[in-house]
Amino acid sequence: MYSGLVTAAYIISAILFIFSLKGLSKHETSKQGNFFGIIGMTIALIATVLIQQIIHNTILIFISMAIGGLIGIFLSKKIEMTKMPELIAILHSFVGLAAVLVGINSYMNYSFNSLIKENNVHLIEIFIGIFIGAMTFTGSLVAFGKLSGKIRSQPLVLPHHHKLNCLVLGISCILLLLFINTNIINVQIFSLIIMTAIAFLFGGNLVLSISGTDMPVIVSMLNSYSGWASAAAGFMLGNDLLIITGSLVGSSGAILSYIMCKAMNRSLVNVISGGLHTIKTDLEKEVINSKYHEISIEELVDVLKNSTSVVITPGYGMAVAQAQHSIAKITQKLQQYGIKVLFGIHPVAGRLPGHMNVLLAEARVPYDIVLEMDEINDDFENTDTVLVIGANDTVNPSAQDDPNSPIYGMPVLEVWKAQNVIVFKRSMNLGYAGINNPLFFKDNTYMLFGDAKTTTESILKLI
Ligand code: NDP
Repeated sequence: MYSGLVTAAYIISAILFIFSLKGLSKHETSKQGNFFGIIGMTIALIATVLIQQIIHNTILIFISMAIGGLIGIFLSKKIEMTKMPELIAILHSFVGLAAVLVGINSYMNYSFNSLIKENNVHLIEIFIGIFIGAMTFTGSLVAFGKLSGKIRSQPLVLPHHHKLNCLVLGISCILLLLFINTNIINVQIFSLIIMTAIAFLFGGNLVLSISGTDMPVIVSMLNSYSGWASAAAGFMLGNDLLIITGSLVGSSGAILSYIMCKAMNRSLVNVISGGLHTIKTDLEKEVINSKYHEISIEELVDVLKNSTSVVITPGYGMAVAQAQHSIAKITQKLQQYGIKVLFGIHPVAGRLPGHMNVLLAEARVPYDIVLEMDEINDDFENTDTVLVIGANDTVNPSAQDDPNSPIYGMPVLEVWKAQNVIVFKRSMNLGYAGINNPLFFKDNTYMLFGDAKTTTESILKLI
């Protein structure tokens, strides 16, 4: 009786997850999407516990769910928006580790229960599941380290990096053949252990060699890997919903990575294999010796009052300073003076996809004045003043002017085309990609130093 009910529940959950993804693709429907996801997951959990009831593990499952749920509630209440990417990365690592453990468990059941090796497909599922899980685990841990500043964001590239990666994949294929073709259990265990160790190293090395600029794509790729790891776990456990959910996460993460690569004018393969490396180009060295202009709050308020159009381009610094609320109020004041205000959002501004959009929505900035990079770039020429609030890499003209720059060819917000550019930051420190920004030294650029929340609040008082 239960199995029919469980299958029906799984189908409903799968449909709800698809609606959830659809809803999450737009601001306006994102709450609805989240709601569908919660209902889908609740149904999935109840149905899974129903199956487990048959094998008498219910109490253990409830205890684990209660512990996990409490940790989840505690973290979601405590974590600030700026720390979200790190949290996502560490959560991906849990998925990877879970897939490794499910794989080991499946193998133990398999080898102990079956005397004759008859099911190669299942062995391949176990091998691939553990491989993807292990590389997702260490890759996500390194991503967590980089995003939280515990590991430096500059790429660490081993000599013969690409050859090493190919060698690892080659050895893993040989181990897979050994794993499925041998009748000796010790040889099987040996190949599984070596492959797991190699996959752990492979995942870590893959993300260590990625430049800071490419981290958004990697976060999204790890999301995809964690989906495929779940799908592999679904195959090992014979759980259809886990296969569907894992595939949805895996494919949507891969599609998002592809879209982000297109937005950055990069190829996915180049990003994943660690294509960007930070070097100081001649233009950058020239920039380091140049002079910049500073502006005071009073002068800035005068510039704003004399403008008819203002574009605000926020970046990671706005998130750190939590300046979105005072920026929203400044926007309202400027609009009351009849000044046209728009926001320009770079696809990788901040530290996770959609970071700026979420913060601006939280501060109730209307969606219709928040434009994507492609929509706003043509407007800068006719804009009086651009306020660059805690953004750096996403407004770096080297992407267009310096063929030797590591970010050359990446689309950026062309803020320098406006009449005045005012950059809010605390110092002349570099952005996340670790490269200099010639924008700060242009004749029409003025630096306003200080924490963005303090400076924007002071502006608000003066306006
Ligand atoms: P950047 O990290 O390039 O620059 C942020 C700037 O904010 C810094 O120059 C910093 O300068 C300034 N800042 C930091 N704190 C404050 C503060 N309290 N008040 C004022 N200014 C502050 O940010 P962008 O948004 O321009 O670019 C994003 C970068 O992060 C890109 O390289 C992107 O690839 C990468 N990335 C994006 C992810 C995503 O998914 N979107 C994920 C991971 C990385 P100072 O220290 O002098 O104040």
